[in-house]
Amino acid sequence: MSEKVYNKIILITAPSGSGKTSIVKYLLKRFPVLSFSISATTRTPRENETDGKDYYFISEEEFRHKIHKKEFLEWEMVYEGKYYGTLKAEIERLWSAGKVPVLDIDVHGAIHVLRHYPVNTMSIFIQAPSVEELRRRLMNRGSETEESLQTRVNKASYEMTFRNHFENIIINDDLDRACKEAEEMVRRFIEK
Ligand code: 5GP
Repeated sequence: MSEKVYNKIILITAPSGSGKTSIVKYLLKRFPVLSFSISATTRTPRENETDGKDYYFISEEEFRHKIHKKEFLEWEMVYEGKYYGTLKAEIERLWSAGKVPVLDIDVHGAIHVLRHYPVNTMSIFIQAPSVEELRRRLMNRGSETEESLQTRVNKASYEMTFRNHFENIIINDDLDRACKEAEEMVRRFIEK
C-alpha cells in the first residue's frame, strides 16, 4: 500500500443538479488510485443503476439496523423518507486496497465527514451557475416529477449557503473547465 495515499479522502459535494456526478466520473477515469465510495440508500434504483456499483440498495429496516450498530461514518435523510449513508466498512475496504475514496455526498454529510476526518480530507463544492440553470438541468434528467423537482430546487438553493465550509469551490458553468479545475486540485492533493 502506498504511504502517500493511505487514509486520504476526497469529498465532492454540491446541491443536486450542479453536475457533480459528471465531474466525479471524469476524476475516477483520470486517476486510477481513486475509487468511488459506494453509499447505502433506501431509495429505489433508477433504470440504469446497479446494486453494489452505484449504491448498496437496502431496505429501511436494514438501514435503521446499521444506524443502531453504528456502521455509518455519516448518514442523512437526504430527501423526504429516503436515507443515504457512507458505511465505515466501505471506506476501510477502499483504504485497505490502497485507494483514495471519493465520496459524492450531500452537503450535510460532507460537513460531518470533514469534522470526523479534518486532516487528510480534500473537499470540493461544486456550484451550479444559477438556480434557473439548476432547475433546467434537473428537468433534463427526466427522472423528476414536478413536485420532486421543486423539492430538489428548494433544497439546492438552501445548500448553496453552506459552500464556505469547503476548501475548494468550483462553479460549473462549463463542464470541461470544471473537470480540469477539479483534476488539478486532486493532482495536488494525491501527490502531497
Ligand atoms: P441521488 O438520489 O440523485 O442518487 O442522490 C441524491 C443526493 O444524495 C445527492 O446529492 C448525493 O450526493 C447524496 N448522497 C449519495 N450518497 C450519500 C451518502 O452516503 N451520504 C449523504 N449524506 N448523501 C449522499
